[in-house]
Amino acid sequence: ADARPADYLEGLNPEQRAAVEAIEGPVLVLAGAGTGKTRVLTTRLAHILASGRARPWELLAVTFTNKAAREMRERITHIIGPSAEGLRWLGTFHSIAAQILRRHAELVGLKSNYTILDTDDQERLLKQILEAENIDSKRWPAKMLAGLIDHWKNRGWRPDQLLPAENGAFANGKGQALYRLYQERLRILNACDFGDLLLHNITIFTSQPDVLAEYHNRFRYLLVDEYQDTNVAQYLWLRLLAQKSQNLCCVGDDDQSIYGWRGAEVDNILRFERDFPGAKVVRLERNYRSTSHILAAAAGLIATNKSRLGKTLWTEAEGGEKVIVRGVWDGEAESRLIADEVERAKRAGRAYRDIAILVRASFQMRAFEERFVLLQIPYVVIGGPRFFERAEIRDAIAYLRLIQSEDDDLAFERIVNTPKRGIGDTTVQKLLQIARLNGVPASHAARQIVLTDELPARTRTALANFLRDLDRWRGQAEHIHHARLMETVLEESGYTDALKLDKSPQAQGRLENLKELVQSMGGYDDLQAYLEHVSLVMDLERGPQADSVQIMTLHQAKGLEFPLVFLPGWEEGVFPSQRSMDEKGEKGLEEERRLAYVGITRARQEARISFAANRQVYGRWTSQLPSRFVDELPPANVEASSETGYYGGGPGMQQHGSRWDNDPDFGGGYSSPGWRRAQANQYRGTHPGRQAVIEGDGRLVAVSESSAASAYKRGDRVFHLKFGYGSVKGVEGNKLTVSFDKAGEKKVIDSFVEKA
Ligand code: ATP
Ligand code: MG
Repeated sequence: ADARPADYLEGLNPEQRAAVEAIEGPVLVLAGAGTGKTRVLTTRLAHILASGRARPWELLAVTFTNKAAREMRERITHIIGPSAEGLRWLGTFHSIAAQILRRHAELVGLKSNYTILDTDDQERLLKQILEAENIDSKRWPAKMLAGLIDHWKNRGWRPDQLLPAENGAFANGKGQALYRLYQERLRILNACDFGDLLLHNITIFTSQPDVLAEYHNRFRYLLVDEYQDTNVAQYLWLRLLAQKSQNLCCVGDDDQSIYGWRGAEVDNILRFERDFPGAKVVRLERNYRSTSHILAAAAGLIATNKSRLGKTLWTEAEGGEKVIVRGVWDGEAESRLIADEVERAKRAGRAYRDIAILVRASFQMRAFEERFVLLQIPYVVIGGPRFFERAEIRDAIAYLRLIQSEDDDLAFERIVNTPKRGIGDTTVQKLLQIARLNGVPASHAARQIVLTDELPARTRTALANFLRDLDRWRGQAEHIHHARLMETVLEESGYTDALKLDKSPQAQGRLENLKELVQSMGGYDDLQAYLEHVSLVMDLERGPQADSVQIMTLHQAKGLEFPLVFLPGWEEGVFPSQRSMDEKGEKGLEEERRLAYVGITRARQEARISFAANRQVYGRWTSQLPSRFVDELPPANVEASSETGYYGGGPGMQQHGSRWDNDPDFGGGYSSPGWRRAQANQYRGTHPGRQAVIEGDGRLVAVSESSAASAYKRGDRVFHLKFGYGSVKGVEGNKLTVSFDKAGEKKVIDSFVEKA
């Protein structure tokens, strides 16, 4: 080779270079975060092309997201120039498998113009099948079956390949038959679901040797990033394609396997060496991303996991800031603190885009978004809409808008059939038409039409019920707080139930977002004020902001890096998430810990972890315990912010049983959150009904009445925004029975009244 193409090889360390240059034969790069795995993969691709071993369309390169694929294409273009455009087979598993299926659809009974069903369609179809088979879809919901079928497909099982145990998992042994019926229906509809893309590919490759041979000739080299997150079906697909050439290069990190719930298998790493004997295994140990404290903190944390392959990491970037850990009073204090620090970092010369906030669950984003809107800090939510733009939030707000104003046709249209209550598009169109003709709002038209025979009886009943619900809620809006109203509406409309039955991975997050919405409403006096606030937040300019703070979930942050990373909400139940611990026990906990490892290792220069002592859920305070992950961080690499009232000094360590207890390096500087926890409880113990108010920076500034235990007693005079003045007749937790001078006796929440 001449001198030119070697340019891109310069700067690689010897191990990286070995992985780039070992072009023939199977290669597995197994290495920790930030060691240059993605860089190796990209350089290897460029090297294969630049050395003339293959043409762009003879390479198969799999990335985890479309965004990652675009970035890789850009980097390669940078190295080899415009010929990188010929990289037709650079993309995600799904996008590549869909392309292949188009060309051979007829081999699995589809046409090349097949459609890919989304989860909604999938479920509707399954529902029809359940009905036709007389299976009680209350007991055996279509969503559950959809989840099972996905699971089977991720494992590479077609209906005839199900194990008897799997078959029992649905409707007393009918799972397999239903799965088969579903596949038949899909074929008739000329459609497939996401799981089918790979499964059909596998069927084609295994049943048609000539087709497989065609791809063996085509794909001379195969490359896979984030290998630890592949599932069985993806692995089988890769193995088939690489069978002949054996030129498969996978890069991954078992410590970053975070998609177990989607069927990803770390076992694929072990399988690789078995299925591709003689594979060259390359380990990279030098981390180029982070400073030493960040790296050591991450390494110390992940060392708690039992099931790992184990590896060493080092960096030349000695020194730097320690990982900062802070306890704050509550979620709002946390967002205040982080927003302040974002501004400070900006003033100190950092660009907004160099700052990331990585959360465990999307409901955590709301507090930051509102704060950023207020302070006019530009931000983007990566991988999803912003909080108030989420479908479930828009739906919920639409209910409130319609309750507030019957004339709000947009709100009406949005929710008249959400959740599905049998009021189809045709009906809605008819209503809108009548409304237009008569110059009245759609809900008026609806009131008229239910008195006629215009609609089929079932639709008419459904619509009448909906109108009755609306009227009832409107009546309630007069005398209950709108946060409570929101809860009632979500429950009585069936919205929450529909989500609870939804077994898709997003459903849980949607429920959490709705809870967060209800919680955030507590701070507004009346519905009108709240709705105004929301429209202001939503109205904010959305244009692409070049320089914005990046807000995303930890899952979405995989593979990315930022100079300054905030990691909020490190509390038991939030992170590690209660759900993954409940559902998957120790395994779930280890996956959460890997997620924490992913989080810390995104940081190049600064990582700042925080946890709140209290979170408000449904207007009620719950005390939070700091995440066990906080305790697992090696004290030598952590700076517990000293201004916080929580950190004081030593005694807590023993009490808490941290695994660093016996660490001889442990000095008095770090004090355990366990101690803080005990302090907070002690405070509550000695001051029932009162809580310390601690400012964002952790200073104790005031002691106030708590809403957890009521500060009111019988006979107190109070003022309520809706009901006016009254006297307390009874106290039960934070609920008061008040005899109001005008409104009579009512039960109210104590935080909604003031002492008169
Ligand atoms: P992750 O596990 O998080 O996906 P990774 O192993 O894929 O990380 P990369 O993203 O490829 O790591 O690299 C991390 C950072 O280190 C990048 O900024 C990359 O440009 C840089 N880097 C990698 N190798 C070198 C090198 N030899 N010299 C200088 N910088 C490097
Ligand atoms: Mg990477």
